[in-house]
Amino acid sequence: MSTTNPPPMLGEMRSHGAGTLRAADAGTEVRLAGWVARRRDHGGVIFLDLRDASGVVQVVCREGSVADAAHGLRDEFCVLVVGEVAARPPGNVNPDLPTGEVEVTASRVDVLSPAAALPFPVEGQAAETGEEARLRWRYLDLRRAGPAAALRTRATAVRALRRVMDDHGFVEVETPYLTRSTPEGARDFLVPVRLQPGHWYALPQSPQLFKQLLMVAGFERYYQIVRCFRDEDFRADRQPEFTQLDVELSFMGPEDVYRLGEALMARVWGDALGLEVATPFRRMTYAEAMTRYGSDKPDVRFGLELVDLSAFFAATGVGVFRAALDAGGHVGAVRMPGGAELTRKQLDGWIDWARGRGAKGLAYVAIDPDGSIGRSTVAKFFSDAEAAGFAEAAGAEPGDLVFIAAGPRTPTLELLGALRVVVARDRGLVPTGQEGPFEFLWVTDMPMFEPNDVGGWSAVHHPFTAPAPDWEEKFEQAPGEAVAQAYDLVCNGYEIASGSVRIHRADLQQRVFEVIGLGREEAESKFGFLLEAFRYGPPPHGGVAFGVDRICALLAGADSIREVIAFPKTSSGGDPLTGAPTPITAEQRAEAGIDARPAEPAPPPNLPGRETIPDERRS
Ligand code: ASP
Repeated sequence: MSTTNPPPMLGEMRSHGAGTLRAADAGTEVRLAGWVARRRDHGGVIFLDLRDASGVVQVVCREGSVADAAHGLRDEFCVLVVGEVAARPPGNVNPDLPTGEVEVTASRVDVLSPAAALPFPVEGQAAETGEEARLRWRYLDLRRAGPAAALRTRATAVRALRRVMDDHGFVEVETPYLTRSTPEGARDFLVPVRLQPGHWYALPQSPQLFKQLLMVAGFERYYQIVRCFRDEDFRADRQPEFTQLDVELSFMGPEDVYRLGEALMARVWGDALGLEVATPFRRMTYAEAMTRYGSDKPDVRFGLELVDLSAFFAATGVGVFRAALDAGGHVGAVRMPGGAELTRKQLDGWIDWARGRGAKGLAYVAIDPDGSIGRSTVAKFFSDAEAAGFAEAAGAEPGDLVFIAAGPRTPTLELLGALRVVVARDRGLVPTGQEGPFEFLWVTDMPMFEPNDVGGWSAVHHPFTAPAPDWEEKFEQAPGEAVAQAYDLVCNGYEIASGSVRIHRADLQQRVFEVIGLGREEAESKFGFLLEAFRYGPPPHGGVAFGVDRICALLAGADSIREVIAFPKTSSGGDPLTGAPTPITAEQRAEAGIDARPAEPAPPPNLPGRETIPDERRS
């Protein structure tokens, strides 16, 4: 290959990528540039591992001036190497390295730029460097193969998403980041407006309202790979800004979304991991997911399904079970295979775990190797029939432990659902890593409303979500049971997409607002522009948003979405690299108008005297 006409990707300075050299290149003169990943001084000969974006190759510096130059090199110096590719002597081949059959005999080594003393060994394992340091020097962390590969996987995934959307006739449209509050139920990040002191933008929690406006505008198929901003309490794997593939379709039904989601995931998993994803995906109603798995995002890679013991204990004298059942609640169980051998201390640990989640407690029953009931917090209160039938009712084998929870139905199922996952992890039943299996599942028929902290109802998805046809006339009568035309896509216990058919009729929208306690005026002031748009022939529409960060974390085999974000925030919301967030100066504060009071309630910009929802729309 000629060194005068390098592939354009390499840049003018180079002839080859370090990681691309193979035995067939032996004898070729190359110009390489990259970083010193390692330097080994063997007396007269110095070996360098030269790393660039394509990989690593061994460089040998033997002769006078080259060896002298190599002496001065330190880890992570940026260097240019000119030399010839040589086959390694047979005993020196490194089968673990793609370039392991060759080395480059340097005739020239130039320092392009030196590196200061490193805060951590770049070639070391990412896991051995504390996260704070990794993020503080993220540009060094990203020189590592693993972290860099995670971002490359993300790029592959995003490209695949765009291709599928394009193939399906979706139009990519950008929507504003400086806007007003959007309805996803979190707190807004607010931005002061210097030119209108006392007035604030909100960063969008999602483009929900804009994508619905685009449906009114007749686009029919919209998508956007977009940042969303939600000011929520810090939790281990939450980022205040995150990325969605946001989608909206007109004249659609849920089946359109299911098919699209399946095409997207099949392409992404194929392109990023070379894996074939079986479609169509399984489906399960929310009600079934809660009953069997105690979760609206069940991990179905392993069994350990929850056992409903309410009927078995219908006549029980066990106090806690009796109280729960008399109050219309639930008694359920999770089996821990082989758990009968747990020590007292370990068992206490599990009870503490449940208490840590706010549960009053957790009962357990061990099944001895002979099948009889062993250690237990409750079995001494069992009737003879309960003692005789328990193992079978709980689906437990000799040597198993059965955890039992009792109380109001939903929280009890949720406790058991969470317990199921930690028990499965503890028993080594949950596969890890990139190889899969990846179990996709549509969870359908999600609830419309959930009780909120102030004794009313909140929309589970968002307030523009349509009720299921059966519930359209009566959701007010039993908001807690009403079913929405809303769906989630779940993979291995993570929600990776969520969406719904939307309401496009004013009367129905008004009734939903009433259930969630949103008065006509408040609705008008919050979403008036959308309601106004809905006066002009809105098409029936619906959509979905895919969580790009989580999808990429699954592809990368990473536990945390931070691994697939170039510059993530720590779990407490800070960025150790830039130091954001920072205090502001008094001047900035004054200039931004943070303390200014608006002269009068802000009129929506450029919308002269909009009417309230007219009566004819309420029909
Ligand atoms: N806007 C919704 C969300 O961010 C998704 C949707 O309904 O399309 O969760």
